[in-house]
Amino acid sequence: MANDFVIIAIDGGAGSGKSTTARMISQRLNYMHVDTGSHYRLLTHWFLKGKISPEELLNEETLTKLQLDSVLTGTSCRMRINKEDVIDSELRTEQINEMVSIYSALSSVRKHLFNYQRSLVKFGQSNKFQGIIMEGRDIGSVILPDADLKLFLFASEEIRNQRREAQGLIDSIKKRDRLDSERKNSPLIATSNSIHIDTGSISIEEVYLLIIEHIKKL
Ligand code: C5P
Repeated sequence: MANDFVIIAIDGGAGSGKSTTARMISQRLNYMHVDTGSHYRLLTHWFLKGKISPEELLNEETLTKLQLDSVLTGTSCRMRINKEDVIDSELRTEQINEMVSIYSALSSVRKHLFNYQRSLVKFGQSNKFQGIIMEGRDIGSVILPDADLKLFLFASEEIRNQRREAQGLIDSIKKRDRLDSERKNSPLIATSNSIHIDTGSISIEEVYLLIIEHIKKL
């Protein structure tokens, strides 16, 4: 582990409990929380607003106009495009849930985010956090392959659907997971050294304590 700054990667399917877990760890341990799903959602929001089709994005030029930067709210690090703030509820609409996996499968889109997401480790260090906890689908495999701790969260489909319903969201979890797992570029995957946690069988507090045990061993 370099400089005592802890790097944690959390991957898992939709509704697997990544955000709740990452938020809790970040707030209790003063780690910077990065939700990379929101990066893909923000780009999707931007493409839909600008009527930019997935086909147009095969040309990487279209993406160079998008300047990415970060803002901090407490321990949460949010991405902005061309300095514009978009509230979170606008990124969780049925339309974005439907389209996000289509746009996120494009190599031009993933390439555009790769350096930005990796640069967030330095951003977290320079903002005096104790570590970074980054969640997504390809964090342990592609973005932060040298993370100090890699977690892979899962839960039954029934539980994941219940979670979305409780949030009042319409989300085709199964379809998104299929698209995210089967795509060629950076699919949803657990690496061989990931710790698997079933968030459906234990409470969030128990998930937290389990992860803390692993952090103590670093
Ligand atoms: O995490 P969340 O469900 O908000 O992610 C939305 C979508 O963003 C995913 O279904 C996936 O298509 C994409 N995503 C991705 N790689 C990541 C994080 C999210 O492709 N690292």
